Amino acid sequence: MSDAVYRSTVGRDYTPDQIKAISTGLRSIVGAERVSCHEEDLLCHAYDATMIEARPDWVVWPDNAGQVAAILKLATRYHVPVVPRGAGSGLTGGSLPVRGGIVLSLSRMDRIISLEPENMLAEVEPGVINADLDRAAARYGLFYPPDPASFEFSTLGGNVAESAGGLRAVKYGVTRDYVLGLEAVLPNGDLIRTGSRTAKCVVGYDLTRLLVGSEGTLAVFTKLILRLVSRPEAVKTILAIFPDVHAAAQVVSALNSRTILPTTLEFMDRSSIDCVKKFAHITVDEKAGALLLIEIDGPHETIERQAQNLIELCRQHTSLEIILSHSDEERDALWKARRAISPALHQIAPDKFNEDVVVPRSKIPDLVSRLEAISQTHNLTIVSFGHAGDGNIHVNILTDLAQPGTRERVDAALHELFRHTIELGGTISGEHGIGLTKAPFLSMELDPVTLAIMKKIKRVFDPLDILNPGKIFNDNHHD
Ligand SMILES: Cc1cc2nc3c(=O)[nH]c(=O)nc-3n(C[C@H](O)[C@H](O)[C@H](O)COP(=O)(O)OP(=O)(O)OC[C@H]3O[C@@H](n4cnc5c(N)ncnc54)[C@H](O)[C@@H]3O)c2cc1C
Repeated sequence: MSDAVYRSTVGRDYTPDQIKAISTGLRSIVGAERVSCHEEDLLCHAYDATMIEARPDWVVWPDNAGQVAAILKLATRYHVPVVPRGAGSGLTGGSLPVRGGIVLSLSRMDRIISLEPENMLAEVEPGVINADLDRAAARYGLFYPPDPASFEFSTLGGNVAESAGGLRAVKYGVTRDYVLGLEAVLPNGDLIRTGSRTAKCVVGYDLTRLLVGSEGTLAVFTKLILRLVSRPEAVKTILAIFPDVHAAAQVVSALNSRTILPTTLEFMDRSSIDCVKKFAHITVDEKAGALLLIEIDGPHETIERQAQNLIELCRQHTSLEIILSHSDEERDALWKARRAISPALHQIAPDKFNEDVVVPRSKIPDLVSRLEAISQTHNLTIVSFGHAGDGNIHVNILTDLAQPGTRERVDAALHELFRHTIELGGTISGEHGIGLTKAPFLSMELDPVTLAIMKKIKRVFDPLDILNPGKIFNDNHHD
């Protein structure tokens, strides 16, 4: 941190006296040991999973909502940017302090405040890890279904800020569907409570729904009231291999017209199967052109019958091989291929662009065909896999940006991908959010009037543009 002129935020610089006043103010709020300007702390909070670097000037670890409010009041006074941060596992740069300022780490606010089986809900602080809540709920026969693949390390605050989705979204929905209410601190330090602890609530505008998925740009969550459901009695997994993506897509479409609602319906294309075979040494039929991983849950007797129906359906659609799990160990073995994709992709090329586009389920084959064309036109390796059950396909462009001209080819490919997605009636982000990396593409999906309303909402919450500035809109909303 420079002692002379600090970093500019909304058109003004900081003097050394102001820097001193901010540092002193932060220490008096949370204690000296909970504020850091040390290089190692700044560096550790300069990244998320995008691997873009943006260093903060302070990292602060509050313990409670009162401290969060006091930090935001101080930040308002000196116009300092504040960026809320959970585990920093975001895939669009949401927790990166691109204009410097304070990274507000919610990691110490990690208490499960209450778990109420009789009301089927939990009240938690934002720093609780997703899987910890589900493990606690399991002790009461309850279940917290949203399960992003990062469930063992991402925080519930980060999940709510992104409305994270997961593998079980086909049947159980996404984070948004489980948030009953929030306690949140506004950028000026005021504390608000939205929603309620009841199953129904239609009092006033639905601010809970507005704040869920707001990517840390409107308010900092300090408490979450989350809905729980009954834990399913049994789970079964089926892995089915198809000669091509169209056969697999037909099974997905046929499932829509049946009464079976899978918990999970994951898809892998030929290139992702090849990656996994090569790097995880998994044996898959040579003729495999697509793979579906289908999971169902419910009472024992029902899922046995459903599993047989699903197997029959896959056979009717020329499945080359079908494997059904009979135990947890067998289930884990079937998941091995799906779990191996992400690490395998990292070994193929130094740079990876992971896009989470969504199309109506019936349009998945069209999207896959267009991806093949984009890959050829721009001479890029594209691997796709993902949540076929809800049309959310993870499109991975694998490349080496150090090679001349690559950045331009990737940009052109991304532009085409988003254009095709929107043409097919889809959306450019199903679960990772807009953050920093998708901000340049926002106006491809949103019309100018809608965009203007969103910017006005941001201004109502954050007139000084101090909370997570530079995210979603890619410009200063004062412009
Ligand atoms: C290997 C891997 C797998 C993943 N799989 C999935 C997946 O299947 N589905 C999915 O949806 N995502 C997935 N993600 C992305 C990521 O894990 C999610 O977006 C997750 O919700 C981020 O949580 P976090 O605690 O890491 O938040 P962070 O990355 O720290 O922050 C994310 C955003 O939330 C804001 N924020 C954090 N806490 C608060 C708070 N208390 N109040 C207000 N705003 C806050 C931040 O400012 C930022 O904008 C994956 C990431 C990785 C690395």
